[in-house]
Amino acid sequence: MAIDHLDTATELQDLLNTTALRHQLSQSVTHMPSLKMCADCDADIPEARQRLGGVTRCVECEGYFQRERQREQQRGRR
Ligand SMILES: [Zn+2]
Repeated sequence: MAIDHLDTATELQDLLNTTALRHQLSQSVTHMPSLKMCADCDADIPEARQRLGGVTRCVECEGYFQRERQREQQRGRR
């Protein structure tokens, strides 16, 4: 039961990251092809995620990267 809960949380996280990434890509003009493996940890990048274009990290690393970047932006603005 605990694993089921974790699964849902991961899927939700994936969805959130994908949405955030799509939003980010619609703002930037870069249309680079996606990598098949994460540039940071060599994990497989899901095909659905590759289709977004310009994907270089797995969900986990991208989430970590974006969190770090948000933190930097917030620090810079204040
Ligand atoms: Zn990764």
